[in-house]
Amino acid sequence: MAATKTFGGKTYTNGQCPPGLLAELMPYGKHGNSGDQRAFLRKDAAESWNRAIADVERRTGIKLRVRGWNRTYDEQVEFFLARHRVAKASETACCVWQGRRYHFTGTAHAAPPGISNHGWALAVDVIDFGGVGDFDNPRRKKAFPILAEHGWTETEGRGRIQEPWHLVYDPTKDKHKGEKPEEDDMTPAQDAALKEILDFKRAAEKVLLNGNKVPRTGKDGVPWTANLMAAIARLDSTLVKGVTPDWPAKLMAAIARLDSTLVKGVTPDWPAKLMASQAKTERDAAKINGLEAAVAALAQSKGLDGEAIKKAVLDKIDEALDGLTVTLTNAG
Ligand SMILES: [Zn+2]
Repeated sequence: MAATKTFGGKTYTNGQCPPGLLAELMPYGKHGNSGDQRAFLRKDAAESWNRAIADVERRTGIKLRVRGWNRTYDEQVEFFLARHRVAKASETACCVWQGRRYHFTGTAHAAPPGISNHGWALAVDVIDFGGVGDFDNPRRKKAFPILAEHGWTETEGRGRIQEPWHLVYDPTKDKHKGEKPEEDDMTPAQDAALKEILDFKRAAEKVLLNGNKVPRTGKDGVPWTANLMAAIARLDSTLVKGVTPDWPAKLMAAIARLDSTLVKGVTPDWPAKLMASQAKTERDAAKINGLEAAVAALAQSKGLDGEAIKKAVLDKIDEALDGLTVTLTNAG
């Protein structure tokens, strides 16, 4: 009988944690050595990790990312075989899998498929936490004691494998279990407002990026979308961080910045095309619809004067669009 674990009323074997039991690690989509991968663990471990890294960042300024997380059985087989081969009779074996002795050929170990804590969706491999056997890595020394308060253990990593980066979640050692993550201090109404704003962002982005009349790069070959993306990233972090009573003001400032970045970051010719094309109308409509929805949601959540906010936001848009006209006139 294969070993099993039970969580959330579901029983699973190693490497087969049901997708419904998984949750994503923050910062979303910024993991792996490439820095652009999504990482998942079993919900309780993921929630703990997200609380733990917020705590580490708050107390030490260190931002943690991972390059190992939940691993399916097939991924474990691939991993194991990349680091081991069947041992010859004369060779030492480091482990046994399916009755055969295996010889270690890699630089870091992998557990035989079916027993790894990665397969239980309960282990992470932390980036920049020291090489094999180096448990004195300075980042690790500062961050680990905080992670330990959140239930993250190094026992397995300090064992035979000597992997400072490999940590395993033990729910019985988590002193912060069930606490709300630091970041998530928004009310449901604010959550809804943020969702509306992100919808607006996507709508505007779609029109701007997919409009076939809008060139993807300027004449100098520099992709102007980079400016847009940077502005959107700023907008997001402003919204998430700036969730305070004055955040409608921050929202308006962010929108104004987004507009001015768009206006500034373009070459002389595309505003002409943009202005001349249907894309402009669609863009304006997307913005205004999205903003109206966002403003309504905001007003509802904060008991603010929706009409006054709406007028202020629409004035900002008018200003930005005036900017486009001026650019067009000057370039023309
Ligand atoms: Zn690991």
